[in-house]
Amino acid sequence: MFRIDIDPSAIASVLEENLRNHAVELGVDEVGNVLEAGDGIALVDGLPGVMAEEMIVFPNGIFGMAMNLERKQVGTIILGDYSRIEQGDRVRRTGKVLQVPVGEALLGRVVNALGQPLDGRGPIVTPDYRLVETDAPGITDREPVHRSLLTGLKSIDAMTAIGRGQRELIIGDRQTGKTTLAVDAILNQKPGDVRCVYVAIGQKMSTVASVVSTLEARGVLQNCIIVVARASDSAPLQYIAPFAACSMAEYFRDKGGNALIVYDDLSKHAVAYRQISLLLRRPSGREAFPGDIFYLHSRLLERAAKLAPAKGGGSLSALPIVETQQGDYSAYIPTNLISITDGQIYLENELFYQGFRPAINVGLSVSRVGGKAQTAAMKKVAIKLRLEFAQYRELAAFARLSADMEKTTQDQLNRGARIAEVLKQPQNSPLSLPLEIAVLWAALRGHLDGVPIPDIARFEREWIRYLEASHPEIGAEIARSEDLTASTETSLETAIGQFKTLFLVTGIPV
Ligand code: ATP
Ligand code: MG
Repeated sequence: MFRIDIDPSAIASVLEENLRNHAVELGVDEVGNVLEAGDGIALVDGLPGVMAEEMIVFPNGIFGMAMNLERKQVGTIILGDYSRIEQGDRVRRTGKVLQVPVGEALLGRVVNALGQPLDGRGPIVTPDYRLVETDAPGITDREPVHRSLLTGLKSIDAMTAIGRGQRELIIGDRQTGKTTLAVDAILNQKPGDVRCVYVAIGQKMSTVASVVSTLEARGVLQNCIIVVARASDSAPLQYIAPFAACSMAEYFRDKGGNALIVYDDLSKHAVAYRQISLLLRRPSGREAFPGDIFYLHSRLLERAAKLAPAKGGGSLSALPIVETQQGDYSAYIPTNLISITDGQIYLENELFYQGFRPAINVGLSVSRVGGKAQTAAMKKVAIKLRLEFAQYRELAAFARLSADMEKTTQDQLNRGARIAEVLKQPQNSPLSLPLEIAVLWAALRGHLDGVPIPDIARFEREWIRYLEASHPEIGAEIARSEDLTASTETSLETAIGQFKTLFLVTGIPV
């Protein structure tokens, strides 16, 4: 008989060895179930290991993001068509925190909050992705704002100058020119120097279309990324959009370049976040907004920064927009944003209807850091402008009460009215720094005193045209030196003297 000797202890040791080396690999592909879905929110169970802000996938490739991690279930937001998600659907983890494509490939494109193209110009191919929520640069990674970000709008560049890396709030009622002002600032950026990101949150499609066509018509769309979460998109997409757009802008900042981001607007963003929070049953506070709404917006706006040379020296400036109801800037969201940002440009209904456009209320508008970054040329003009304009407004308030005034008061009022007129600017026509200086200088030096108010806009247009055609060297000198030296002023005096005689010949009293 054939016989095999079996040693039980040998078998045990082999088994033991096998067990020891047997590694249990737990993948992140946990699969859960939708318990409840609707209004852009889904409650999910069966995802015990999911991370906060991790992307999850619903059927049909619809993405979601984990927001509320609870013991037995996870509250998620749906970043897509939520009407296609039902109770009982399977949901899978991805193991990745939400990220969006970034890079040069996005320039000139219109994308949604996930960076997917909306403009029908084909897919966006880029090797770079960034997290939607990232930490803002720390104090030591920054340096003080020291270069100005010119908007091309005389009143802003002179009175509430914005610096690169600054956050300046644009605040005003409905239809007071908020979007136009921000778009003008984008139009004024030289392609390649400052990259621009415009993010529309809860806007009408017609507004977005007109912004895109303005940028395209001026040939600056190639310098911009447009991120769109329309009013008809779900609240989660509107909530994500500014963060995603900020990541796209940060790409340029971190490569040592300059970027400008416009958030249009954060009131609608706050409303979208309130909707999500209420549906996720988070506790609500003032005006039913969740308690962390201040933190949400400060987290977003802290990402605007001027980086130190050691970090590449790049900058990201932000122009958040907030809408007020009947001029009430002390409401919850506006006051939050006023305290987070480095200043505000306050647009006023009454001025807008008086035709004073851009309708900036100079008294209520401030810029806390930009003044330091102003060019020497603009500083020289701005100091005088601010003083004369403040005196004029005070005098004008008195003048309404008394009929007869001294000659000097009358002169001051005349000059002030002309300065006010010069601060008006048509939309979509930003001016270069030398031209801004030349126009403001002319008004402050009294060269417009004899021009009737209705002719001032034309005087300004023709003065600019004359300077560009006959004395380009003056503009070139101001642009080069960024200063208004005594010799440049003399050249300006000569030039305006010649220009005024031309005007006299053409019949306009100067
Ligand atoms: P909404 O509250 O609807 O977002 P808004 O405050 O963004 O409005 P805009 O859409 O920018 O305002 O402008 C409102 C209207 O005012 C537009 O028709 C625009 O053409 C006009 N407008 C804005 N600025 C100027 C300007 N400087 N000169 C002339 N018209 C202007
Ligand atoms: Mg608008």
